[in-house]
Amino acid sequence: MAYDDSNIFAKILRGEIPCDKVYEDEYALAFRDINPQTPTHVLVIPKGAYVSFDDFSEQASGEEIVGFVRAAGKVARDLGLVAPGYRALANHGADAHQEVPHFHLHLFGGKDLGRMIKPLEK
Ligand code: 5GP
Repeated sequence: MAYDDSNIFAKILRGEIPCDKVYEDEYALAFRDINPQTPTHVLVIPKGAYVSFDDFSEQASGEEIVGFVRAAGKVARDLGLVAPGYRALANHGADAHQEVPHFHLHLFGGKDLGRMIKPLEK
């Protein structure tokens, strides 16, 4: 899937749309989700143009990947999520209901998040 630079996160990166920024460096931007699912719900996105985790993991340079992961970990620490715990999650594609085609890592925290995913019915 080709990257479409009209997506909402590309517009946020270009400063065309505002966001509630919590962190920025040369590799990543982190901002609060507009429709939070948990008391703390932050999105961390790479500065580069990658559609999803699949695209990022295959095409990004080692420097970009390390920079992004370091940034995401720092955001979680800075938000005080390490001691209580948090969830980092990336949706890719239709089965995961990815809405925005610019790779993003969700950081969820601020409450007991329960099980990771609903178990299959037996
Ligand atoms: P996805 O389903 O693609 O993994 O998640 C996309 C996330 O982006 C959703 O949680 C949604 O609430 C969030 N989102 C969509 N549009 C905007 C926006 O304009 N600003 C912010 N801050 N979050 C957005």
